[in-house]
Amino acid sequence: MPIDPTRPYDDQNIFAKILRGEIPSARVYEDEWAIAFEDIHPQAAVHTLVIPRGAYVSWDDFSARASAEEIAGFVRAVGAVARAKGLVETGYRLLANTGRHGGQEVPHLHVHILGGQPLGAMIAR
Ligand code: 5GP
Repeated sequence: MPIDPTRPYDDQNIFAKILRGEIPSARVYEDEWAIAFEDIHPQAAVHTLVIPRGAYVSWDDFSARASAEEIAGFVRAVGAVARAKGLVETGYRLLANTGRHGGQEVPHLHVHILGGQPLGAMIAR
């Protein structure tokens, strides 16, 4: 079920629990601003999720409320994970589903890093 990105942050969401270490994940990166872990249902050869440590529902929420430091830290973390995954030479795709039309299912901002194979059309038809 897509989430409503205009609702307040729910600290019981699944990624909040992963961030706190309350449920397991295959963590591949962490720094002061973000963590990254493997998507549980990968849709490409590489499918890694990067989330900010801060409590933000969506891209909309993050871009409106996060500090410049948090935004810079998060964007750099996404790039660092893509580099660590060896994706720069072959290329990759970033995806931040937001709200109903975006198909966002978890109400904590996450960027999907997809790669390791040709990814096809940008939008399913
Ligand atoms: P969204 O549709 O919100 O952009 O993407 C949510 C993503 O989170 C999906 O790709 C889904 O497979 C992944 N996901 C959902 N629950 C879990 C979980 O408990 N652990 C991990 N690692 N990924 C999850």
